[in-house]
Amino acid sequence: MPHEDLSALNTRFSDDAERGLRFALSGALGHVALVSSFGAESAVLLHMVSRIAPQTPVLFIDTLMLFPETLAYQRELAQRLDLRDLRIITPDREALFHHDPDNLLHRSDPDRCCALRKAEPLQQALRGFDGWITGRKQFQGTTRSKLQMFERDDTHLKVNPLATWDPAQVRDYMTRFELPRHPLVSQGYLSIGCAPCTAPVATGEDPRAGRWRGQDKVECGIHIANGRVIRRQAS
Ligand code: SF4
Repeated sequence: MPHEDLSALNTRFSDDAERGLRFALSGALGHVALVSSFGAESAVLLHMVSRIAPQTPVLFIDTLMLFPETLAYQRELAQRLDLRDLRIITPDREALFHHDPDNLLHRSDPDRCCALRKAEPLQQALRGFDGWITGRKQFQGTTRSKLQMFERDDTHLKVNPLATWDPAQVRDYMTRFELPRHPLVSQGYLSIGCAPCTAPVATGEDPRAGRWRGQDKVECGIHIANGRVIRRQAS
């Protein structure tokens, strides 16, 4: 699909997550997968996809550094939503053995750690797909404030059906469909990644403030802007 068509798609679907998602899953954009972290808000998109096209491949990157609660939640949701094509993606064991044998790379070089455990395995898993669906939203911090439903990175089309949703819409959807919450949300974790790099946030804080707290890093590298890892702005 040529670049100029993305703005037409954004105009056509940007206010309607389900319609945009149906279009993305219709085959009109080629072969697409849902990439899910099974994090704090992931149940919404997983539920929508399971109702619209349950055979959609769902890619879950297990960095081998996740909270046990996330792994349990992943199993619970997969069973509850009857996900038919869940693919658990793990880092290359040999690469880990060579570059992160003691699982401490996240302290010395978190960008390399994210590349090894997330970005590179995902790029491998996305081979053969034309696009992928993400759960990113504009309210999740300044780096996402201009996010649109349809965009493109260096290699793939990306679809963000919930781009314009606010926290209340997410909450209402989960309540309406009685979707289970990630067990760490009640402890203040509003954005949940790997255990060593995720902290709870205070009321009113940016939901992603607990990710790589104290560092300038704000994205793991699977979402990049103009080929660069996005960094926190100095205040
Ligand atoms: Fe490594 Fe932390 Fe990135 Fe996870 S979030 S891959 S532990 S640097």
